[in-house]
Amino acid sequence: MSRLVVISNRVPVPTPGVPPAGGLAVALSGAMEARGGLWFGWSGAKLPPGESEPSEPKITTADGVTYAVIDLSERDLDEYYAGFSNRMLWPLFHYRMELTEFTRISLSGYHRVNRLFAQRLAPMLKPDDVIWVHDYHLIPMAAELRAMGFRNRMGFFLHIPFPPPDVLTALPNHADVVRSLAAYDVVGFQTPSDVENFETYVRRERVGRRLPDGRFVAHGRAVTVEAFPVGIETDAFAAVAAASNRNALVRRVRDSLGDRKLIIGVDRLDYSKGIAQRIQAYETFLLLDPEWRGRCVYLQITPKSREEVPEYAAMEREVAELAGRVNGAYSELDWTPLRYVNRTVGRNALAGLYRQAAVGVVTPLRDGMNLVAKEYVAAQDPENPGALLLSRFAGAAAELDGALMTNPYDVDGTAGALARALDMSVEERRERWSAMFERIRDYDVTWWRETFLEALERDDEAPPSTGRM
Ligand code: ADP
Repeated sequence: MSRLVVISNRVPVPTPGVPPAGGLAVALSGAMEARGGLWFGWSGAKLPPGESEPSEPKITTADGVTYAVIDLSERDLDEYYAGFSNRMLWPLFHYRMELTEFTRISLSGYHRVNRLFAQRLAPMLKPDDVIWVHDYHLIPMAAELRAMGFRNRMGFFLHIPFPPPDVLTALPNHADVVRSLAAYDVVGFQTPSDVENFETYVRRERVGRRLPDGRFVAHGRAVTVEAFPVGIETDAFAAVAAASNRNALVRRVRDSLGDRKLIIGVDRLDYSKGIAQRIQAYETFLLLDPEWRGRCVYLQITPKSREEVPEYAAMEREVAELAGRVNGAYSELDWTPLRYVNRTVGRNALAGLYRQAAVGVVTPLRDGMNLVAKEYVAAQDPENPGALLLSRFAGAAAELDGALMTNPYDVDGTAGALARALDMSVEERRERWSAMFERIRDYDVTWWRETFLEALERDDEAPPSTGRM
C-alpha cells in the first residue's frame, strides 16, 4: 500500500500527555499509522516580524506518522488565511456574498502560500505517495504540485458547501478555482447537492461535461467528483456519552437544572451558524408558549473564533446583545432562560451535556455538514432520546431525516418547532432517533475515510468506455 500524505491548513501534531482531539484527526492519523504517512501544513504559529520562512519544516514523529509543519509570516496569514480564505471563500461558499471582501493582494497571498507549501513539501514526496488535500485554504495545491512535475494520485475534500453557479461566479477568479479542482483525480464534496452545483457550473460555463462512466471531464482532465458525507466516530462518542454521568461538570449542570428541560446549542461563533436567528426563535417561543417559562433552560455553548476577521467582531456584539435582551425580558429571580457561554468544553463533558438535553438545536443558515448534529444523535440515551431540531440548510439534513427540519430564516416557524420538539412523545423520539443513529453508525468517519481513499486509489487511468450510458 502506498504512503498517505495529508495536507491541511492546520495539523494536529500530537503532544505527549495531551489526549488527541478526536474525530477527523484520529481517523486520518489512524489511516496513516496503518500504511505510513506524512501530514503537512501550517504550525499554527506566526514567524517573528522580519524573519523569513525557514526552508525546512519542523518534524515530529509519532506512531509511524510524520508531522511536518511550517510557521507563516504575519503578512502571509493576513492575506492567505484571514484574507482570501476567510473573508472571500468562506462567506461566498456559505452563500454570503454581502460579507465577502475580494482583493488582488489577498488572492496573491493565497497563491503565494499554496506555492510555499508545495515547495516545502516537494523534497519529502515519493513518486507513489497518495496525496489527500483538505479544504478551501488549499484548493490550488494539486495544480502547484503538478506544475512542479508530480504525477501522484491527488484527492481534494471540501469540508464546506460548494455553492451554485450564480453564487460561485461572484468570485472574480472562479474560473481558476474550478481549473485548480480539475488538477485532482478525485474531488469530494459533502452532499449530492454540492455535486449538482459543480455539475451545473461546469455545464453553464462550458468548461467540461459528465462522462458516461460518471466522472467529469473538465479543463481536459478526467476527475471523479462525488459526495462523501463526513461522519463522526459514532460508537466511540456514544460510549463516552453513556459513561458521562461520572463527569463532574455534567453532574453540576444536571443539578443546576432541577426538573427543567435542557435545550442545547453548540457552535463556534460564526455567522454561518444562525445563532442570532436561533436566539430570536427562542425569544418568540418564550413569548408564544408562556407555559414553558421557568420549565426549560437553553444552553448555548459558543467559543469565539476568527477574531482577526472584522465580520466576526460585529456578530459577536449582535449575539451578546440579543442574549442580554432575552434574559433581561424573561429572567426571574430564580430562573435564567438562556445561558450563553463563550468557551470550549472537553469532549467527555460535551457528550454528557448532549445526552442531558431534551432538544438539540442545530440551525445553521448554511453548513457543509455540521458534526454537532451527528454528535447530538450519537450521545442520546436509546431509551429516552432527545429530539434534534435541524436546519434544512445543514449538509447533515440530507442524511438525518429523523430530525425535525426547520428553516432558520423562519423565526416563528423555528419557535413552533422548538415547542413541538419539547412536547414530542417518547415513542416518536425513539422512532426518529433510531433511524438517525443507524445512519450515522453505518456512515461514520471510518466509512468516509475508506470510501474516499478507495476512490482515490481506484485505477481509472484507462480511457472511459464509450459504450455505457
Ligand atoms: P465547524 O467545523 O464549522 O465548526 P461542525 O459542527 O462541523 O462545525 O464541527 C464543530 C466541531 O467542534 C464539533 O466536533 C464540535 O463538537 C466542536 N465544538 C463546537 N463548539 C464547541 C465547544 N464549545 N466546545 C467543544 N467543542 C466544540
